[in-house]
Amino acid sequence: MALTLHVDAARWRRHLKSIVEPDGVTVVPVSKGNGYGFGNATLASEAFSLGAGTLAVGTYEEIDDVSGTFTGDILVLSPWRPWLETPVDDERVVHTVSRLADLRALAERGGRPRVVVEVLTSMRRHGVGPDELEAVGEALEDVRLEGFALHLPLGGDHAEEAHRLGSLALDTAPSSVPRTLWVSHLTPAAASVLATQTDAEVRLRVGSALWLGDRGALSARGTVLDVHRIRRGDQYGYRQRRARRNGRLVVVGGGTAHGIALQAPSPVTGARQRLVTAAKGGLEATGRALSPFRVEGKQRWFAEPPHMQCSMIWLPDDVRSPSPGDELEVDVRFTTTTFDRVTFR
Ligand SMILES: *Cc1c(COP(=O)(O)O)cnc(C)c1O
Repeated sequence: MALTLHVDAARWRRHLKSIVEPDGVTVVPVSKGNGYGFGNATLASEAFSLGAGTLAVGTYEEIDDVSGTFTGDILVLSPWRPWLETPVDDERVVHTVSRLADLRALAERGGRPRVVVEVLTSMRRHGVGPDELEAVGEALEDVRLEGFALHLPLGGDHAEEAHRLGSLALDTAPSSVPRTLWVSHLTPAAASVLATQTDAEVRLRVGSALWLGDRGALSARGTVLDVHRIRRGDQYGYRQRRARRNGRLVVVGGGTAHGIALQAPSPVTGARQRLVTAAKGGLEATGRALSPFRVEGKQRWFAEPPHMQCSMIWLPDDVRSPSPGDELEVDVRFTTTTFDRVTFR
């Protein structure tokens, strides 16, 4: 009961429903990594309740987290590689293949695996080049190709790119290949337009906008475990720093093990943004840093860098102190936070 994700279940599920029912597009929920804070098993069961036909996971290792509760197909987003340990004859698994050599190698393993071929976009992460599509078409005998995947950059308008690459892939493929495009990071409206333009079924793979799209339904909170009065000059913490004023030390659940005050690197471009980054809990070299925990609506200073399972917060005397058992709001990045508990109310 240290760090809890509270979910307003009715509101959250209303939002999920609104996302999975766009016109002319099939939404494929994505559940991967830390399960966007909820855990992959929880998301698998939600995806099942939503009636999704396919659930996408990040890696082969994540299949086991979802395959018990989700009974439909499972698309693996990480491309297949010959050195990975992967299920050979699991009929529910759809592999992503992003290199011509891998397509041939996977085909040789037998069992006519189900595959989606990823086409290289301006992301330049994974994918076969547009100039290799013809060779792809000639290497399909021993696989079941279930369409082409396009992983597009975030932001900006990539509808034109999706149209161009999608059409090229579909038109180069043998006519026996289903006209299906698996796309990421298009708006539902753009995906729907793409479906019309290419005369294809568009499957929109959505994680963040689905699970985290309505932040108002989610509240992350740490439980206060201890509160200690501190007088000016008293020492405290691992570092035995001395208090410069009278105040309180609030020991609250949520530390580095939960991902508190650790963040994914973000492009820091200006002084203002740097301040914002510091405000989200980045630790400065001085050790004085704003914590992501809020008391009376305001972020409070870390007394010292967070510990594994809890954090020590400094509270000045003029702020009303919380008591053990109370919960503090905490600003987290859901994709890097591990909660002890998720509650649905
Ligand atoms: C993670 C991932 C997604 C989902 O990303 P969100 O930004 O969470 O919606 C979609 N496609 C691919 C290929 C991914 O790896």
